[in-house]
Amino acid sequence: MLQKQALYPVHVVVVGAGIGGLACAIACRRSNPPLEVTVLERAPEILAIGAGIHIPPNACRIVKHLGLVEELKKAQAYSVEGFTLRRYEDGRVLAEKPMGDRMETEYGAEWLAIHRGDYQNVLLGSARKNGAQVLLDADVVGVEEGTGESSGKQIVLIKSKDPITADVVVGADGLWSGLREYVLGFPKPPLETGDLAYRGTFTREQLKTFKNKRVDEIMEAANVQVWLGSNRHAVFYPLRDKTEYNLVLLVADDLPPGMRTAQGNLDEMAANFEGWDPALNLIISCLKSALKWKLLHFQELDQWTKGTVALLGDASHPTLPYQGQGAAMAVEDGAILGLLLSKLQNSGIASDPEERYAQLTDVLRLYEDLRKKRTEVNVAGALDTRHYYHLSDGNEQIRRDQELAELPASNWEGPCNFNWGDAPYQKSLLGFDSLADAERNFDAWLGRRRQGGSQGDVRL
Ligand SMILES: Cc1cc2nc3c(=O)[nH]c(=O)nc-3n(C[C@H](O)[C@H](O)[C@H](O)COP(=O)(O)OP(=O)(O)OC[C@H]3O[C@@H](n4cnc5c(N)ncnc54)[C@H](O)[C@@H]3O)c2cc1C
Repeated sequence: MLQKQALYPVHVVVVGAGIGGLACAIACRRSNPPLEVTVLERAPEILAIGAGIHIPPNACRIVKHLGLVEELKKAQAYSVEGFTLRRYEDGRVLAEKPMGDRMETEYGAEWLAIHRGDYQNVLLGSARKNGAQVLLDADVVGVEEGTGESSGKQIVLIKSKDPITADVVVGADGLWSGLREYVLGFPKPPLETGDLAYRGTFTREQLKTFKNKRVDEIMEAANVQVWLGSNRHAVFYPLRDKTEYNLVLLVADDLPPGMRTAQGNLDEMAANFEGWDPALNLIISCLKSALKWKLLHFQELDQWTKGTVALLGDASHPTLPYQGQGAAMAVEDGAILGLLLSKLQNSGIASDPEERYAQLTDVLRLYEDLRKKRTEVNVAGALDTRHYYHLSDGNEQIRRDQELAELPASNWEGPCNFNWGDAPYQKSLLGFDSLADAERNFDAWLGRRRQGGSQGDVRL
C-alpha cells in the first residue's frame, strides 16, 4: 500500500533541448509543487534556425495548457485558415479543408504555424522562466544506475563535465538518440522511408518580383498549400506575418544508404518538378540552397523505457512528416510525462530508494503504454498519407480526386478512404485530449495500487 510521505523532490534530467524536451521541462516545472528539472543540451548555443512548423490542434491544446499560446502569437504564430490540396500539373484545387475558427470548435484548439526557431525560443524562454536549469554544451555520453548513496538513482555522464544524479532521465535526444541504445540494450538506427526532403524559407520580396497573379494569390492566403503528384509532393505556407515563406519538397530518396544529408544542386532539385504547376516552379526558384535530408522513421519500437529512463519524441517514434505531427507528438509526450510524474509526486512518493525506484519505473511504464499506441497510429497514418499524396495518374488517383471533390466544405463529418479527408480519423488525431486521458489512467492506476494490486500492474 502507498503511504503518504513527506514530499520528496523528484529530479528529472532531460537530455536534449528540442521541442519535446523543452515541453517536458516546462510541464515538470509548472506542476504544483514543481519537480526539479535540469535540461542538458549538446549544442553550445540554441540558434533560431530551421524552416516552418505546424502546431496542429492536439499540440496547440498542450501549449495552451502550458500557458504559451499568447507568447507564440507574439512570436508570429498564426492560425492557419485552410489546407489546400492541388493537382501537380496545373495547381487546380482538389480539395480545401476550412480551418480557422473551425479547429477550436471541432478539436478544442487552433491549428497554428510558426517558424521553428521562434517556437523553440518561446519554449526555451518558458522553461527557464519556470525554473528549469538549462545547461548548454552538455553532451550526454552515457547513463549508469547509481550504487551506494546513489542507489535507486541514475547517474548521467556528460562529456568533459561532472556527472549529474537524477531520479528520472528523459531521452529527448532526437532521431539519432544515444539514450535509445541504453533503453533497448542494442543500437537501433532509424529506418529509411524511401523519401527525402529539400526545405527552406525565402522572402516575400522574392515572390513579389515575379509579378505573377497566381503566385500573388497563393502567397496572400494564410493556407497550407500542397501539390500532389507521382512519388512526390510540395508544401508551401507563409511565416512571420507573410514576410517569409516556407517550402518543403518531398521526393524519392536518392542518397546512398546511411547518408543522412547531402548538398544537392538547385537544377537537380527543380528537375523533380518539371511539368508541374508553373506557379509552383516560380516558388521553387526562390530556394537558394538544395540541402537534401533523408527522411527516417520506425514503424514501431519495442520499448521506450528501462527502469527510470524514458524516451520521448523522435528518439522513440520518428515519422514521415506528412501529417505535421512529429513535434506535436513529442510535445504531447513531454506534457504527459510531466503530468504523470507530478501526480506521482503529489500522491506521496516513497522515501525508501528501492521502493521509489519501483514507483517511478511503474509510472514510466504507464507513460509508455499511454503514448506508444497513439504514436504508432500516427506513424502508420503518415505512411498512409504518403500513399495517397504520391499516387501516379491512374484509376486510384481518379478515385482519390473524386472522393476529395465530394468532401463537403462544412458539416465535414463523414469517412473517407484517404485519412486527410476522413473526419473520424482526424478527430481522433487532432481532437484527442491526451492530458485528460493521462489523468484518468493515472488515477485508475493509483486506485489499483492502493487496493494492493501488483506493483508492476500498469498495463492498460
Ligand atoms: C521536413 C520536415 C518537416 C516537419 N514538419 C513538422 C511539422 O510541421 N509539425 C510537426 O509537429 N513536426 C514536424 N516535423 C517533425 C519534427 O521536426 C520532429 O519530430 C521534432 O523536431 C522532434 O523533436 P524532438 O524534441 O524529439 O527532437 P529534436 O528536435 O531533434 O531535439 C533533440 C535535441 O537533443 C539534442 N541532443 C542529441 N543528442 C544529445 C546528447 N547526447 N546530449 C545532449 N543533447 C543531445 C540535440 O542537439 C537536439 O537539440 C518535421 C520534420 C521534417 C524532417
